[in-house]
Amino acid sequence: MNTIAILFGAELRDTAFEELMPGKSAFLLTLTRVREFEGITKIALLTGDEFNEERIPQSAGPLVLIKKTVWNTKILLDTICELSAGFDLIYFAWADTPLIDAELSRAIKNRIIKYAGEYGYADGWPQGLSPELFLPSTAVFLAKIAEGSQEAVRRDTIFSVIQKDINSFDIETELAPVDLRSYRLLFAADSRRNLLLLRRFLEAGWRDYNDAAPLIAKHPEFLRTLPAFFPIMVCSVCPQKCKFCPYSKNSPAAEFMQPERFSSILDKIIAFSGDAVIDISLWGELALHPARIELIAAVLERPQLSLVIETCGIGWQPGDVEKIAALNAGAKPRLNLMAPVSWIVSLDSASPERYFNLHGEGFEEAAGFAKTLLGAFDKTVYVQALRMRGEEDDAEAFYRFWKDAGAEVIIQKYNNFCASLSDESAGDISPLHRQPCWHIMRDFPIMLDGSVPVCRERQAAGDTEFLAAAGADTTFETAWERGAALYAEHCAGRWSALCERCDEYYTFNF
Ligand code: SF4
Ligand code: SF4
Repeated sequence: MNTIAILFGAELRDTAFEELMPGKSAFLLTLTRVREFEGITKIALLTGDEFNEERIPQSAGPLVLIKKTVWNTKILLDTICELSAGFDLIYFAWADTPLIDAELSRAIKNRIIKYAGEYGYADGWPQGLSPELFLPSTAVFLAKIAEGSQEAVRRDTIFSVIQKDINSFDIETELAPVDLRSYRLLFAADSRRNLLLLRRFLEAGWRDYNDAAPLIAKHPEFLRTLPAFFPIMVCSVCPQKCKFCPYSKNSPAAEFMQPERFSSILDKIIAFSGDAVIDISLWGELALHPARIELIAAVLERPQLSLVIETCGIGWQPGDVEKIAALNAGAKPRLNLMAPVSWIVSLDSASPERYFNLHGEGFEEAAGFAKTLLGAFDKTVYVQALRMRGEEDDAEAFYRFWKDAGAEVIIQKYNNFCASLSDESAGDISPLHRQPCWHIMRDFPIMLDGSVPVCRERQAAGDTEFLAAAGADTTFETAWERGAALYAEHCAGRWSALCERCDEYYTFNF
């Protein structure tokens, strides 16, 4: 069988070229491992125009380099078609996946041959362990489906095109004996976070894909790398007293984080995590911050960061949406491939009466604000509805209304903030077996006074334990390290009294 490996390398981060093992980067390891795939007679590397060929080590062996100024779904598929003509099978992967596995690829290839499949992939393993495999004729069909598509290339691009006409393909899957999808792992050197993850697995003696499940079970601490999500409180005031929110019990004096301080926090985040999602505002309403546009601009000036604005949709001034939309349109692409700005508008009901019961006044303004956003932002406006006992009757109407309006809809579970609020949950959707908390694994909340609580839930419930106290000169590294002990407790199946009462551990932000 005459096969070609096509590696996508146009979106690689510097972390792909950093040393991962002695003398070897993730990029070199990927090129080396791909050469072990069965039947390989050609390797093609797809890059941007600016790619410096000196980054390809001599030891990588011969390959065909295809440079283009622009890559999108259609261009990618057309290029795959051109390169694969005359071959029997294509292996497609990203060029920063150093654990990509020849044996797992062989198993998928054998399935495709045995069952006359057209496309095959590994299901249940962490992403990055196997390429996608497909026939050159499949690539031709996919290129036709993607006609005119200018969508950016993402890790799931090939499968997302297949999904547009999924019944037309014979798909073969190599299923993992233990389903590891719930860990949401990506074995790719696409960030400082995942580089650390790869290093830990390699240093623990990684040999092949069969090591994934046992190593995860033996070293759950490997999965807590660097924080990815930074909810930051930038102002103390908000315009509502929402029934479901512990912050509504407060009547704070107006206090605002100054833009200089906010910018300095952003720089510290980049220095520590490399890239991140910034969420404002942890408590309080960004719309009421006098320097709200400046704060948003500060995030967008830094391509390492993407921004999520959580708002009740009340208090925004005329012209704000246009200014933010202009900043969003002018922002450089984000390193984490997310949109520069995403919005979450807390509306909770399609009915003014129910809205009043949950939020108080403001239905018209909040719903009107969400509609204005929909006219200014493409696919990054989410409206949120809380699932709360006795408040669910219009959930379907809410979903339909906002879907038809072009919004993405988030149905959020009720949070009783470690039982500091009464239990109003509409049902128990927690997993059968409790897992370590996503929030101490990935989140790093920062309060207005600079303190770093363990999590938003414990802070709201009056926790006295902080990873960094207000006014203390604690580095982000030290604060994060303090959370490692708590995470280890969770891994060992022990929870503090507050965590014991919390069911937010299985909710995932970014
Ligand atoms: S949900 Fe937002 S607006 Fe409502 S009380 Fe809480 S912080 Fe204020
Ligand atoms: S389990 Fe709940 S209280 Fe404990 S760290 Fe996670 S989110 Fe916070």
